[in-house]
This record gives sequence, C-alpha cells and structure tokens, in this order.
Amino acid sequence: MKKAAVLLMLAMTMAFAGCGTDSADNSAQGQAESGGKVSSDEAEPLDDSNAGSDTEDSSEVSSGDVLADGVLTVGTNAEFPPFEFVGDNGEPDGFDIALIKAIGDKLGVEVEVENMEFDSLVASIGSKIDVAIAGMTVTDERTRMVDFSDSYYQAVQFVLVPLETEIAAADDLAGKTIGAQLGTTGDLMIEDFEGATPKQYNKAVDAVNDLVNGRLDAVIVDKNPALVFADNFSDQIQYMDFNFEPEDYAIALPKGDEALAEAVNGALAELKSDGTFDELVNQYIEN
Ligand code: GLN
Repeated sequence: MKKAAVLLMLAMTMAFAGCGTDSADNSAQGQAESGGKVSSDEAEPLDDSNAGSDTEDSSEVSSGDVLADGVLTVGTNAEFPPFEFVGDNGEPDGFDIALIKAIGDKLGVEVEVENMEFDSLVASIGSKIDVAIAGMTVTDERTRMVDFSDSYYQAVQFVLVPLETEIAAADDLAGKTIGAQLGTTGDLMIEDFEGATPKQYNKAVDAVNDLVNGRLDAVIVDKNPALVFADNFSDQIQYMDFNFEPEDYAIALPKGDEALAEAVNGALAELKSDGTFDELVNQYIEN
C-alpha cells in the first residue's frame, strides 16, 4: 500500500513538474509501473527538467551491471526505527526503504530489499547486494571500502540511560558499562570514554533491553532510534543529548561505479526538488 502511495505521489508530482524522463527510453520495462505518468509526460512539453532527464537517461544506459538487470538489490538492517524496521506485514519498512524504492522508481528499476546484519552490509556490496541503505553514517573507514551517495540526512549520537542515573554529561560515561549495536558509530565511540566497558549487540533493541534490565549503564545509539526506544520504554529509560559530532547518512554504493553514483544522486536530487523527500520525512520521521 505504501508503495502504491509513493508511486501515485511520484506520478502526480512528475505530471505537474512535467519531468517526463523515462517515458521515451524506458517504455519496455517501465510502463507497467508508471502507466498514467507516461501519457501525461508525453502530452506536456518539457521545460524545466533537462538536467534530470539527462542524468537519468544516461545513467540507465551506462551504469551497466547494477541497473541493467532491472533490479536494484538493497541491503538494510531493519532494526533501526524510523529509518528501517520490520512492518506489520513482515517486510522491511521505514524512511530509508521508502526512499530507496522512490529512487528505484526514478531509475526505472525494481528494488529488492535484503534484511541482514548491519555489520555485514559494507562487505556485502558487490556480492550479495548492490547498495546498502541503513541509516549508515559516512565514515573514513567505510569510504575505503565503498563509495557513498550524497548525504540525505544529518544525525547525531544520543545516550540512553535509566530514569535514575548519575550520568548527566558525556564525561560521566567514563568507567561505565555501555552498550551499542556492533559496528556502528555509537559502538566505535565507546572507546573514547576512559575505562568504559563496551558491550556489543547485533540489534540496538537488545542493548536497550539490557539497559532496561539493569545490565548496562548506558546505550549509545543514533538520535532518531534513541527517541523511538526512549518512547517505547518511557517508564524506565530516558535519552540524553551530549552534543556529539553531527554525522551524515548516505547510501553505500560499490566503489568506483561513478555512473551508478550519478544515477542515485540524480534521483535523490529530483526527489528533494519535487517534494517527495519531505513527504517521506513527514511520514516517517517527524510524525
Ligand atoms: N549511523 C550509525 C552507523 O552508521 C548506526 C546505523 C545503524 O545502526 N543502522 O554506524
């Protein structure tokens, strides 16, 4: 249902904006999904969409292996609400999932989501998956293995603590037992606190459960999931913002595939300018 809504929204915005980019060259594979859009695009002269259409057209031809089969296989770890979580129907849902599906629609490919451990995502790009979207922060270490799209969201680490706690500032984390999801930027931060004992989990929610059960003094996790977890366990825990360094989320891409990066960035820019991106922010993050 969400997909249908996104498609409808895309069809409407594209019809209004007159940005009919994929109608001409994409008719073979795109028509089934974008029916109404095709005719309205063709009926209307294009005026303000030249940049977008160039990007999209050339990328569909040249980003070879990854898009040529018409399927973009996307890795995620659906344990990170509101960016990704398992929906009521058992399928991954969330802001990132809706965003990558909207990007797939722009590129005329089908998006298949693979739910896997966060810590395996980067290494799986180019084999099990084409790209990864997982509230993933751009870091130097990851940039050695993968490329990143333009950033689509700014984040920051928050600290979850029990309602009763002596932790009131970042310095108070020294010497504490601190949980985080394995391989995340929150996990990597723990070593900054002198004498802290790190505890790593495959899912952030498991760390949160240990915090609730008194096995941890604190959990470090990105702001938006922290808000969700603090809300879900509001009788026991609270969040704290210690003004850590801002982080940028981006889509992880195969190293050196410039055509794919250009295609993804072009689609992202279109989704920002046509209002779809903000709609998704409102729907998933700021509701
Ligand atoms: N933003 C953090 C990171 O990239 C956490 C991401 C996540 O747990 N999905 O490491």
